[in-house]
Amino acid sequence: MKYQSNNFETNAIHFGYNAQENEGALTPPVHFTSTFAFETAQVGGEMFAGEREGHFYTRISNPTLSLLEERMAILERAESALATASGMGAITSTLWTFLRPGDEIIVDKTLYGCTFSFLNHGLAEFGVKVIHIDLSDSQGLKQHLTKNTRVVFFETPANPNMKLVDIREVSAMVHEFNQDIRVIVDNTYCSPFLCNPIAFGADLVIHSATKYLGGHGDLVAGLVVGNKDDIQAIRLFGLKDMTGAALAPLNAMLIMRGLKTLALRMERHCENALKVAKFLQSHPSVKEVSYPGLSSFKYHNLAQQQMKGFGGMITFEVHGGLEAGIAMMNQLNMIQRAVSLGDAETLIQHPASMTHSSYTPKERLSHGISDGLIRLSVGLESVDDILMDLKQALNCCVPASLDDKTDKLASAELA
Ligand SMILES: *Cc1c(COP(=O)(O)O)cnc(C)c1O
Repeated sequence: MKYQSNNFETNAIHFGYNAQENEGALTPPVHFTSTFAFETAQVGGEMFAGEREGHFYTRISNPTLSLLEERMAILERAESALATASGMGAITSTLWTFLRPGDEIIVDKTLYGCTFSFLNHGLAEFGVKVIHIDLSDSQGLKQHLTKNTRVVFFETPANPNMKLVDIREVSAMVHEFNQDIRVIVDNTYCSPFLCNPIAFGADLVIHSATKYLGGHGDLVAGLVVGNKDDIQAIRLFGLKDMTGAALAPLNAMLIMRGLKTLALRMERHCENALKVAKFLQSHPSVKEVSYPGLSSFKYHNLAQQQMKGFGGMITFEVHGGLEAGIAMMNQLNMIQRAVSLGDAETLIQHPASMTHSSYTPKERLSHGISDGLIRLSVGLESVDDILMDLKQALNCCVPASLDDKTDKLASAELA
């Protein structure tokens, strides 16, 4: 018997494993093997023909990866999952499976830099039509759906500008037009703890497991979650033949270790980030803060509807433009200047010159990624230390807007 609970926290620790079937080992063994011996040649033939279940080569499946996949499926409230060597491995394996020359994919205007590049500088060169629209305005979507549309893809909240898309509304509209169009959500920013897009009508969910799932900044990995048939198609074509982006068993084990504390970590990420966002909002050197938990944020209501918490990611802009922002970043002591996100360490980076530099400056402008934007992944340190570091760096390097200062001081006094 394999253990299953109704609760996220318990499944993240126990689901799908029985120590007694594994010599009592509390922690699942890591199957360090590339290939699997067949009992007879006929058995091997039957596995290759898909007539018999079993593992035969680790690029396709491996028991350690299977356990991670089963756990992720249950946490995302889906049938099935597939582990890959990176988030980009998950995205490319999936899209190569469902798109052919002449097909159309509708994507949100704001996408992670490498996803944008794969679509615009990659798939587009192979005859796939890529249509960028603002999916937070779902009415605009209607006029772009055609008989050639195969996939609708978005992130929510989007990397880097924190824009949210209404998963339920978009999925309903797309499926009303054509059941077979895959609605794919990159759920990296939320992790399955904060949002389950499939429960809102999406077909497939993608994760960069490098981020919150691994959670410790020590690996690169990805996952795709969805129904059995889609996942099997991605496994046997997109992953096996098109990308070969297979995950190493040791990394699967490290992700399962991360999953055990995912709920706890996400709660603390959310708690710390809300405090940091409020601090930034009240600071006279800060021009604008985007965080789903701020009641002033454009997508706050939607965040309350489709997220269980507001997450650990914040973007902000300071007065004095990019130059002041860069000076502020260089002044930080504890907060690390690094890309990636979802780690225990608080990380800060500048999308225009780093994660989103695969957009041309013109593309960034038309896709809503301003040059002054600074992205913060709020970590698990004491929030007092995070606030202190930000405060000294802002006070040192960024001019305070006078109007803003008076306004903010006045409202601080009132509060
Ligand atoms: C990091 C990231 C990716 C890419 O994942 P890798 O594991 O780095 O390949 C994709 N989407 C989002 C939203 C990300 O933040």
